[in-house]
Amino acid sequence: MSMERLSVESKGYFGEFGGSFVPEDLQVVMNELEEQFNRYKDDPEFIAEFKYYLKEYVGRENPLTFAENLTKQNQGAKIYLKREDLNHTGAHKINNAIGQILLAKRMGAKRIIAETGAGQHGVATATACAMFGMECIIYMGKLDTERQALNVFRMELLGAKVVPVDKGQGRLKDAVDEALGDLVQNYKNTFYLLGSAVGPHPYPTMVKHFQAIISEESKQQILKKEGKLPTAVIACAGGGSNAIGAFAHYIDEKDVRLIGVEPAEAPTLTEGIPAVIHGFKCLTLLDENGEPKPTYSIAAGLDYPGVGPEHSHLKTSRRAEYVTVTGQEALEAFQFLSKTEGIIPALESSHAVAYAIKLAKELSNEDILIVNLSGRGDKDVEQVFRMLKQ
Ligand SMILES: *Cc1c(COP(=O)(O)O)cnc(C)c1O
Repeated sequence: MSMERLSVESKGYFGEFGGSFVPEDLQVVMNELEEQFNRYKDDPEFIAEFKYYLKEYVGRENPLTFAENLTKQNQGAKIYLKREDLNHTGAHKINNAIGQILLAKRMGAKRIIAETGAGQHGVATATACAMFGMECIIYMGKLDTERQALNVFRMELLGAKVVPVDKGQGRLKDAVDEALGDLVQNYKNTFYLLGSAVGPHPYPTMVKHFQAIISEESKQQILKKEGKLPTAVIACAGGGSNAIGAFAHYIDEKDVRLIGVEPAEAPTLTEGIPAVIHGFKCLTLLDENGEPKPTYSIAAGLDYPGVGPEHSHLKTSRRAEYVTVTGQEALEAFQFLSKTEGIIPALESSHAVAYAIKLAKELSNEDILIVNLSGRGDKDVEQVFRMLKQ
């Protein structure tokens, strides 16, 4: 076996996880994507353009807010909130959407395609496409388009074409299959914009690269405010993009605890086993037939039976800890942060807040926690209203 072949095969692996398990015609597209990503990611002009739009369009850098009231009531570690909720469109997803669209432009793509379940990634993609004048096609399970009619309308307002997928169960998985089919046919002018740190190589590496801005900023901010690194960084994990972005610049700081919070209703990292789903290997929840297990979390963004390969490796190598929080606990944290700090967090982020409150009580006032507030809760107010009042 030649060395070259070995190095090709070990690319995109985090321990035993990751890789690319896709049909040959799709692998050709992934190879080209990897080559172009490697070509541009360290290019000073590309970096300057990315930073320009993060500042002028997304509104970065966003603050690292000291949660004074929460800290006082809790009587333990100091809690800081990294405010991804203040980004344009209200969450971290826009960081990645802009990074990938800038790459798509360099690659000469004219069409952007994406898939979306609850609609959040579809909205972020449609927003960035409007900004950069790109044609935008969003595949969405038919059932999901019916349940998320307002998000469909929002994407259409932004100029995207939403394609309801009627095949299979009419859910996210079927939308992914349609999008991949489109990509294989149209790869010469089309770019597939993936929304989380999942999928075949190079997507997990690429999404981490664009989301790492979160910890690049928070590290500088905490050193400036406190003169030392935090005790722990806490983030919710669905596919794992906000968490890997929040962890990235601390992974080599062995004294900083990295804590990912999963919904107890979809405990991928806590209870999953290694398997290949959706083109890559990760810890995943399977049903008795070996199929990805349907999950249910009150936070749509956390409802995924797999998780990014790097998180799978951080878990098995014990560099990071992963814990669970129930929907009920997240719902309480949602209300508690709203009342104490005047910040309504996304239900996804509320999982991280809930765990931070628990952990802070066990630590001293010398300790510092950074909670990644991945998004704002405006999108969830109606759902919480229904859950509390009915
Ligand atoms: C989509 C979403 C998540 C979950 O996705 P990750 O890739 O795990 O970050 C978390 N929080 C918010 C606000 C989201 O919109």
